[in-house]
Amino acid sequence: MKTEQYDVVVVGGGPGGSTAAALVAARGHRVLLLEKETFPRYQIGESLLPATVHGVCRLLGVEAEMEAAGFMVKRGGSFRWGTNPVPWNFLFALSPEISGPTSYAYQVERMKFDEILLRNAAAKGAEVRENAAVGEVLADADRVRGVRYTGADGEAREVRARYVIDASGNRTRISTHAGGERVYSEHFRNLALFGYFEGGRRLPGPDSGNILCAAFDEGWIWYIPLSDTLTSVGAVISNTRAQEIQGGQAAREKALLGFIDRCEIVRDHLSEATRVTTGTYGEVRVRKDYSYANTRFWRPGMALVGDAACFIDPVFSTGVHLATYAGLLAARSLNAVLGGDLSEERAFGEFEGRYRREYGVFYEFLSAFYDMQGEEESYFWKAKKVTAFDTSAMEAFVTLVGGVASGEAALTDPAEMVGRFRASSRSLADAVTATGDMTTASGERMNHLFGVGVVGDVMQEMNQIQRRGVLGSATSEAPLLPGGLVPSADGLGWAEPA
Ligand code: FAD
Repeated sequence: MKTEQYDVVVVGGGPGGSTAAALVAARGHRVLLLEKETFPRYQIGESLLPATVHGVCRLLGVEAEMEAAGFMVKRGGSFRWGTNPVPWNFLFALSPEISGPTSYAYQVERMKFDEILLRNAAAKGAEVRENAAVGEVLADADRVRGVRYTGADGEAREVRARYVIDASGNRTRISTHAGGERVYSEHFRNLALFGYFEGGRRLPGPDSGNILCAAFDEGWIWYIPLSDTLTSVGAVISNTRAQEIQGGQAAREKALLGFIDRCEIVRDHLSEATRVTTGTYGEVRVRKDYSYANTRFWRPGMALVGDAACFIDPVFSTGVHLATYAGLLAARSLNAVLGGDLSEERAFGEFEGRYRREYGVFYEFLSAFYDMQGEEESYFWKAKKVTAFDTSAMEAFVTLVGGVASGEAALTDPAEMVGRFRASSRSLADAVTATGDMTTASGERMNHLFGVGVVGDVMQEMNQIQRRGVLGSATSEAPLLPGGLVPSADGLGWAEPA
């Protein structure tokens, strides 16, 4: 069997794998990326966050390609959630530290977005092999040492590497080699059933590119405008409904249309639309969207990135952010160790600490968000009632909700909101209600949810990434974790704090 030698082998060419591969190759290390499919390939996960677009994508140097791709501009999210029937919006705030308008993200066709990132990894110096499926991990008691894969020609090959990055997505078969196991959340065990429509209505400007998430009695529906005419529509329901959607396309289509019919706002938006029935978007697909995290994100010689490591319910579009953020963190750790700057333990300890923290805060945020629909009596919503809250987050949440009156002006005045965030140095997210009544109960709750301590923390980190993407090395950061590291001057490695 032919054996090759690399510094790093990355398994999987989704956003997580392509980000890690590009940022390690950019430092001159030998990187091999193995991708099972031939791109472009379909993937779900179309709604992005600003930290990915303005932070990671800029670090990767793909902002021009992103702009040229003509993706739908997403200024925020619109929700029909909680008690109020009127939909309410949040907009991504302009970050005061960044010159230029970066208060938006994109809705992307993943076939296009993922291909941009994969080709960029190759352009940055990684060797990319498609149609190359990894089947086995080479490891001994001390560490992981490489992989075996089958190439496009059907021949088995062996790659020896100092590090293996598993970025092979939620169906990874190799993540157990990191030494841990996947633990599923009790609360978020859903099924998603989704398809595509031509001719759906758009929300009024400037929210026409927003993701719309609308709760109905048995779950919620996403409505993501991918172009002026194409819309991605998916129903998230309890996994106990799996039976209903067995039986192929006809049964899935019937079930999806049935859920849409029960969700007034989405039904109205699709009243003139037709379901796409041919090509890549012609299928109604089903995915479990269970939330989970592995008990270990790394062991000597290996790290897990993206869905291979953890996943959170899709309501806040965090999947690609978590994958690309983890790709960046892993690249920093790899570069620090390969460059001889830090020990493996120290560098990957930082990787795991930051990654877990990010996952944790989104998890808490999500729990609080789902709780807002708590009055619903259906199985889906009851099952989402979270009781085991972290007390400090809950206190922060309650305190903020209690302070409704004092926060009111800032919440309805974008200029003041920016000022407020400047003062508190967490400026990425804003919660300016725009549709309907500014003082609706649900609007207030949403605004204050964005003010929760843990949410502020994660926004601050996203903001750091975004700022670094825009300003390069011209930032100084404090360690995020007690006793932790800071990014190196070029943002691609770690350094001990001064
Ligand atoms: P992936 O994108 O899955 O890429 C993994 C790659 O690895 C694939 O290309 C695969 O072919 C390859 N691969 C697999 N096995 C092998 C192997 N053995 N050898 C070589 N290659 C291999 N996220 C958002 O940000 N916004 C959203 O709106 C959103 N909506 C979602 C809706 C649903 C219903 C679900 C389930 C998820 C959603 N997500 C969303 C999450 C998003 O899909 C994922 O988090 C994201 O795609 C993870 O990226 P990744 O790089 O880790 O993995």
